[in-house]
Amino acid sequence: MTPHPNGHPHAASFDYSVAPRRIYWELTRACALACKHCRAEALHERLPDELDRDEAFRVLDSLLQTKQRPVVVLTGGDPLERPDFWEILDHAKSIGLHVDVAPSATAKLTRATIMALKEHGVGAMSLSLDGGDAELHDRIRGIPGCYDMTMTAAGHVAEAGIPLQVNTLVTAETLPCMSEIGNRVAEMSAKRWSLFFLVATGRGSDLPQITVDQAEELLQWVCEIGERMPFVVAATEAPMIRRVQLQRQGKPADAPVPGAGMRDGSGIAFISYRGDVTPSGFLPLVVGNVRDTDVIELYRDSPVFRALRTPEHFGGRCGVCEYRNACGGSRGRAYAHSGSELGEDPLCAYQPA
Ligand code: SF4
Repeated sequence: MTPHPNGHPHAASFDYSVAPRRIYWELTRACALACKHCRAEALHERLPDELDRDEAFRVLDSLLQTKQRPVVVLTGGDPLERPDFWEILDHAKSIGLHVDVAPSATAKLTRATIMALKEHGVGAMSLSLDGGDAELHDRIRGIPGCYDMTMTAAGHVAEAGIPLQVNTLVTAETLPCMSEIGNRVAEMSAKRWSLFFLVATGRGSDLPQITVDQAEELLQWVCEIGERMPFVVAATEAPMIRRVQLQRQGKPADAPVPGAGMRDGSGIAFISYRGDVTPSGFLPLVVGNVRDTDVIELYRDSPVFRALRTPEHFGGRCGVCEYRNACGGSRGRAYAHSGSELGEDPLCAYQPA
């Protein structure tokens, strides 16, 4: 959610073997929208086994053990569905954590709520936009009126002065509309536009994937417009954008590039509503639970996470690719495609030398 191009204000000093740079925390699965393609397979009601407020506080306190304080991204479902959301946010801020929030564009996301998020110290916010107009966005999300609520909320976010990230799902259906959506993102005064390259998990399994050639063309386009747009243009679950950037700049594979080495399980961890820890929201491999083990410990020591930070052990093209340290492929997509989180990312067009 933060607009920093590397995803963290102190990115350069991060050692991914010590702690994640970003922790995505699904505070609840409850959401008034429950969109067709939701990763969380969100529900209208909260589930009884959510972490409670005291457990949530303990998770936050546990992040202070390392000097590399992760950014905490409160997501869902809709995190605003939790009555104790504000207490959790305040506790995180009171102990000095950087907190971003990913709310859903619902009737709950009023001007007053957005102003309160600013007052309570939220660092950045994100909103989803999957179409350049109401017809496409509402059809894809399956929620009439969602587009209008999103655009209205974006206006309030700009007024509050909270940096806004807009997330757009890339599927065969949205691909032809990317340019138009980019224009809307500019109108929303966003600081960052992140194109999410579909991972076929959750309800997203039914959506039409783009082809390998289309993915390559889109990544080139993202790099190209990123040089002239007034906001950062990024790709989520498409770390091969770093390979494309290096190639475009004529730089060697080991040259520095924003976000290098960050992928599911490497710089990223995910906590589910009931405390299960996985390498990301798109890689459903549970390595433990924060109810009995510290999230930093699970991130640092679990064999799954350690393997995800060792790209020379990846299979297929990713394992032999000269860009594997900077990129390494989407581990979530490798898992969804082959059942192995260490397999190759099938959406990459590159053939290693
Ligand atoms: S082959 Fe794998 S590591 Fe190499 S650029 Fe493609 S996705 Fe990245």
